[in-house]
Amino acid sequence: MITDLFVEMEREGFEEVVVFHDRNSGLKAIVAIHTTSNSTATGGTRMWKYPSFKDALGDVLSLARAMTFKCIGAGIDFGGGKAVIVGDPERDKTKELLKSYAEFIQSLGGKFVTGEDVGITNEDVRFMRRYCDYLTGVNYDPSPFTAYGVLHGMRACLKSACGDESFEGVHVAVQGAGKVGMELARLLIESGARVTVSDLSRERLEACRSLGAECVEPDEIYRVECDIFSPCALGGVIDDETARNLRCRIVAGSANNQLKSTSAGKILAERGVLYAPDFIINAGGLITVANEYIYKEIDETKLRREIEGIGERLAEVFRLAERLSDERGEVVSTHQAAIEWAMEKMRAKSEKKHVISGKYY
Ligand code: NAD
Repeated sequence: MITDLFVEMEREGFEEVVVFHDRNSGLKAIVAIHTTSNSTATGGTRMWKYPSFKDALGDVLSLARAMTFKCIGAGIDFGGGKAVIVGDPERDKTKELLKSYAEFIQSLGGKFVTGEDVGITNEDVRFMRRYCDYLTGVNYDPSPFTAYGVLHGMRACLKSACGDESFEGVHVAVQGAGKVGMELARLLIESGARVTVSDLSRERLEACRSLGAECVEPDEIYRVECDIFSPCALGGVIDDETARNLRCRIVAGSANNQLKSTSAGKILAERGVLYAPDFIINAGGLITVANEYIYKEIDETKLRREIEGIGERLAEVFRLAERLSDERGEVVSTHQAAIEWAMEKMRAKSEKKHVISGKYY
């Protein structure tokens, strides 16, 4: 829990945190800019019913920091940022609120470029585009491309853990059948995998069932015996206990900040469960919206090839984790290796203005 914002900003190298309130629309939003590159930070906007301001602040800070790593990892020349809107997207998301939010982002003058995330859809982004120039994912919905990247990341995991990247006979447990999870389930079934899905929404579960997936209650997904556990709902779902009990060989999903603590990553590694670092495997949407923002038009064949590179980046990190483990004489998790890999890339961009703390959580 954040107790002193300035201490947190100094410790983690945040550049700016902006809090916005509009009495008329009821908008309460926070934008966190961790780093800028080319004077710009990017990251989606999440709308969620946070129980308190501190919860919202904690989430936006950790998500913004992860975006810095994600941009670096994907070779995107933006810094990392994120925004949260406090409220229930089902109940509180009105046109007035979205307009007010769009105008707020416009007032930041392009320092923060944003798009969809949990609770904000492509339709919302298209609506907000009327009032704001700094939106991504307007003509290209990033979610299917995120799912496509996760699928390719899973192939790299299967290759590394089982020596074969085929999905035939592979059982994947997908937590969360939202914009990414549902498309991922579809792609997996199409590729020959057996898929089990959980979601809070009955409607989404029914849609997954009609795709050919099996469905379980939200709590049951952690107990499903499978090859791949795929977190595609919210972050922080793998704490130490979950890491000790998951019944899978691989963890690979789209959710940001899947690990509740660094130790959870270590426990997975010690158990021989291969973890695909989230900020690498879920970069497909970012790669898409960055291409759209920079080039306006997208060559989809080229884009898909670029996204498929996620598999190679993961393989590089898996090799690094093995090498570091050998060198240090103790298990180095793929999560830790990915951070060191990304920080090395950051150091190589030596023009960086400020130091980024080595501490990720
Ligand atoms: P979404 O809001 O469309 O879907 C999230 C789904 O998870 C919803 O259907 C919700 O009901 C379900 N859910 C929430 N809590 C759950 C629980 N405890 N158990 C089971 N289901 C639960 O969001 P999305 O865009 O699909 O994103 C999913 C995750 O991937 C998020 O963490 C997001 O930050 C991350 N991500 C998304 C993208 C993208 O392109 N959309 C890109 C990168 C990362």
